Amino acid sequence: MGYRVGSGIDIHQLTEGRKLWIGGIEIPHHKGALGHSDADVLLHAICDALLGALSLGDIGMHFPDTDNTYKNIDSKILLRKTYDLVKSKNYKVVNVDSSICLEAPKIKKYSPEMKKVIASILEVGEDDVSIKATTSEKMGFVGREEGLVAYATVLIESAADKRAG
Ligand SMILES: [Zn+2]
Repeated sequence: MGYRVGSGIDIHQLTEGRKLWIGGIEIPHHKGALGHSDADVLLHAICDALLGALSLGDIGMHFPDTDNTYKNIDSKILLRKTYDLVKSKNYKVVNVDSSICLEAPKIKKYSPEMKKVIASILEVGEDDVSIKATTSEKMGFVGREEGLVAYATVLIESAADKRAG
């Protein structure tokens, strides 16, 4: 008892003239992700996984793209707000596993920095945040560099149980 798991997926279009934010950091590239916020696909997938773990709906419900408050917002703020919700339900994060699927640029070298950002927001160790990267072998919209996808799974634990145990 006291553990819940959640999964999240997010997809964004890649387009010229936008910055590419993934995992809370800006990655130099000629294309960026299109979206109402900064379109950080990884942070959005993690938000959805956290919300899913508590059956609290999805990111679109909590931060609607019709609300100008969230226009071009830094998704680290959305993740922080989502985590506040998790804490308000008396849960803490155990670990996060995630995968980013995109053809270019190569992002493996940025993952330590992404881990640092995510771990600090979710108040876990950097070893509790896993970020994997893959391509789609030139196939489909990811392969054509039209978009990118992120998947995340989180495990959360009742903070109350932790105190008791
Ligand atoms: Zn998104």
